[in-house]
Amino acid sequence: MKKEVTIVGAGLVGSLLSIGFARRGYKVKVFERRPDMRKAKGEAGRSINLALSDRGLLALERVGMAEEIKKIAIPMHGRFIHNQDGTNAFQPYGKQGQFINSVSRSALNMKMMDLAEKEGIGIYFEQACTGIDWIQNKVTFGPRNVSSEFELLFAADGAFSAARLQYQLQHDKFNYAQEYIDCGYKELHIPPGTGGTFQLEKNALHIWPRTEYMLIALPNLDGSFTCTLFFPFEGPVSFASLHTEEKVNSFFKEVFPDTITLIPDLSKQFFNNPTSSLVTVRCYPWIDKDRFAMIGDAAHAIVPFFGQGMNCGFEDCRILDELIDTYKEDWEKILPAYQVLRKTDADAIAEMALNNFTEMREKT
Ligand code: FAD
Repeated sequence: MKKEVTIVGAGLVGSLLSIGFARRGYKVKVFERRPDMRKAKGEAGRSINLALSDRGLLALERVGMAEEIKKIAIPMHGRFIHNQDGTNAFQPYGKQGQFINSVSRSALNMKMMDLAEKEGIGIYFEQACTGIDWIQNKVTFGPRNVSSEFELLFAADGAFSAARLQYQLQHDKFNYAQEYIDCGYKELHIPPGTGGTFQLEKNALHIWPRTEYMLIALPNLDGSFTCTLFFPFEGPVSFASLHTEEKVNSFFKEVFPDTITLIPDLSKQFFNNPTSSLVTVRCYPWIDKDRFAMIGDAAHAIVPFFGQGMNCGFEDCRILDELIDTYKEDWEKILPAYQVLRKTDADAIAEMALNNFTEMREKT
């Protein structure tokens, strides 16, 4: 019977996973590459938000966190469409009462880390996984080359997982593919109005669909909105073509006219904020015997157009937890069942997420 769990990555999925294990009485150690975001002011202050759906909430409920998280979430009851001619349309998400939630990524992560520590979990920051010794069951972390023995190891270190790379380097018949799309994304910020008011409809996910590209915005608790521009990297209308302040301002004025007054420092933000890429990662197997598994983006990174990456990672944690009950902590049975169950769903959502880009930018 295993008693100790080592997790690489204290992101959204690693933190949730750690809490599930602690509740079962396992000794849990989490190693995180970044500094503690609760102390690093710059990072924590960024209002990047995510859509949290029932899929994710169900997993949070299993560890008793759902109510706590709902307090920092804003329900979004539908899509609010902004057309180029200035007209708008509201499209409800399903039947009355159904909604998804906008939640701050950093607030969620920090809350989960707080809760993990309350459960007695040790989170070790600035420890980047650099090697795994599969013979001696040891994982090494830089920059100080500290080694830690593991009984059960989880790779929860995201789309570019170092633990997965260690697995890939030393395991035969590991299938791996990563695929970038031609569009990237840039985040932009709509500040709150006077007195902290919302300058757009609060309880909605805003979309400016423009066929080849789109802008979206999700609300934050302080009255601001985080916008994301999904846009081609290259071509006549692209990040490459908008290379002067004048071009950015005139493009937004023409294509997203109602944002001009909402984002006062548009061109400054446009050139200061990074342009990031979007990748799908498919790989298999996800496990090694009864001692190692990938989870969350490390196993299945998807593009964000369905708003389901984190939700699926949370679902991995819930399904794994259910399997621990089903197989009464027999890890030789739990891990194979976990990867078979989750791989099918992960492949399906990866495909649906890619298709939903067309849906959102062309068909809404
Ligand atoms: P991550 O969040 O990437 O966390 C991995 C952690 O591992 C990080 O803390 C990292 O610092 C750490 N780490 C990395 N390397 C190492 C190492 N070598 N050693 C130790 N630690 C390491 N999902 C949704 O459900 N809803 C949404 O609305 C949504 N919107 C999105 C919008 C965008 C623009 C993007 C890019 C993604 C979006 N996602 C969304 C997806 C979501 O962000 C991811 O699915 C989710 O963050 C995955 O969580 P994770 O814990 O597996 O990985």
